[in-house]
Amino acid sequence: MNSIALRPPQRFLMGPGPGPVAPSVLEAQAAPTIGHLDPAFIELMDTLQGQLRDVFRTRNAFTMAFSSPATAAMEACIVNVLEPGDRALVCINGVFGMRLAEMARRCGAEVDTLSFDWGRAVDPAKVAEQLQSHKPYKLVAWVQAETSTGALSDSQTLAKLTRDAGALSLVDTVTALAGVPLEVDAWGLDMVYSGTQKCLSAPPGLAPLTVSDRALEACRNRKTPVQSWFMDFSLLGGYWGGEQRRAYHHTAPVNNLYGLHEALRLVQDEGLEARWARHSRVSKLLADGLQRLNIEIVPPVAERLPPLTTLRIPEGVDDAAFRKWLLTTHSLEIGAGLGALAGKAWRIGLMGHGCTEEAVQRVLGALEEGLSGSVAVAA
Ligand SMILES: *Cc1c(COP(=O)(O)O)cnc(C)c1O
Repeated sequence: MNSIALRPPQRFLMGPGPGPVAPSVLEAQAAPTIGHLDPAFIELMDTLQGQLRDVFRTRNAFTMAFSSPATAAMEACIVNVLEPGDRALVCINGVFGMRLAEMARRCGAEVDTLSFDWGRAVDPAKVAEQLQSHKPYKLVAWVQAETSTGALSDSQTLAKLTRDAGALSLVDTVTALAGVPLEVDAWGLDMVYSGTQKCLSAPPGLAPLTVSDRALEACRNRKTPVQSWFMDFSLLGGYWGGEQRRAYHHTAPVNNLYGLHEALRLVQDEGLEARWARHSRVSKLLADGLQRLNIEIVPPVAERLPPLTTLRIPEGVDDAAFRKWLLTTHSLEIGAGLGALAGKAWRIGLMGHGCTEEAVQRVLGALEEGLSGSVAVAA
């Protein structure tokens, strides 16, 4: 059989992720691979750590790009901090909160959950009430930017409640990082992970991760060893810094880290706050356009997540057929609804490099064309 060269199609990625990757990031990844213990690579890791601290707004020594998708960084935080019998509170307002709760249960933790309607933020008043009326928790976890529903929760307020209750916080910032305000140190967040494929506009496969000293201390004070060798923070910390600096742990994904370096350089060039402002401004253009088309956005205005807009599918439109039409005729990808919103909602991402007025015009034009005639009827 002849081998066939790979030719992926050109797409406009406007779903929940991956988002479009900046061309200079793809170019950076094509640079020659070097050894992961090469002095030049070690220098790159140092630079990357500094860049990650800047984008997370933290001075945490334990700051790195974990070699994994974001889900594994989520699991890494959970398995390092929780052991059998520990008490955890997980806030659930979408798919990723459910994942957090399930991972915590699998560690043998006693997990309480607080559920909120899909499309709504985590309500700090409910969290405060729960924290006051129950035995102390070791960990409180939530998702700042619920990509499954388009809701943005108030991490600053939730972090304060968590600290006041003497617990550690674990925050999913996968779609928040470099898209909406996030201040790890000023807000006092403890375990914070993200992904590269959302607002950072690098390819998927790496997970920026930062952990406070007090959370690391809690991990060190465990009674049982962390069950996962690969995810054990004490070993990972030795690879990314600390006394046994660069002790071999695993082979870092060298070229992906080149890409992340370039992606973070682009964030720095634009300015983090300017980038937050761009996401806010451009997503309002999308919201205005949807309103003109009489399409309803699911979360209330004050709880909307700029990088991800969830809208109700208009009556009579075939969800799957419409999205297939968008992909085949406009090469445009948007996301389906999940969980309670499956079949009822679409998700439009405006992330990083893809968060532009041009992208807004493109998706609005395509929606208007499709909804005004043939596609809705054909479905
Ligand atoms: C995308 C996403 C994840 C999972 O990221 P993967 O890289 O697919 O593992 C986790 N949490 C949130 C909020 C996300 O948007």
